[in-house]
Amino acid sequence: MDATIARVNKVSGVFSVTINPDPEAIVVMCNDPHFQTTFRDFLEERLDLPVGKYVPILADGGPGMIAHPDQLPGDFRFLIGRVTANQEIYPTVSRLILIGHQECTYYRGLSVKVPSLRTTFGRKVEHWAKSDLFAIASDFKHKGLRLVPQVCQFLEKCGLTIELYYSRLVDESGVEAIFERIPIAS
Ligand SMILES: [Zn+2]
Repeated sequence: MDATIARVNKVSGVFSVTINPDPEAIVVMCNDPHFQTTFRDFLEERLDLPVGKYVPILADGGPGMIAHPDQLPGDFRFLIGRVTANQEIYPTVSRLILIGHQECTYYRGLSVKVPSLRTTFGRKVEHWAKSDLFAIASDFKHKGLRLVPQVCQFLEKCGLTIELYYSRLVDESGVEAIFERIPIAS
């Protein structure tokens, strides 16, 4: 069997399509392959959002892309553009869920690309994603007065219920993770 026929056989078959999914949420999360099943299972089992009930927006660093509009205006514009566009496409969406995770490689790149962030966060890049989620939550809570007004303006204007979560590894083996909710309201 030549390679072309083998490939056709491998992809043959029928696969289901979700009819009228009416998604409830837009989920912004990192595209890191280590965490895709982790995020999927958490969304289904803890947030009652099985695949099809949310619109995934996968990007390097996930919500990290909106946390630094001054230093990373391109990332900020890209991500809010995707959220806004999907809100228009899926009017049933009422929640915006932002998920960051430990040891995110986006932040390792960022520590080189924007060295000034090392002053903001400290040298340990491992938990920068968590710091960003706290910054977003704090900014939203304090109406953008303390940190970056662009983030607050976007979150308020979108009219969605905002939820933030951070996934961290249980131990150094790196095979299991848990989730923490980052609070907005005090
Ligand atoms: Zn990541």
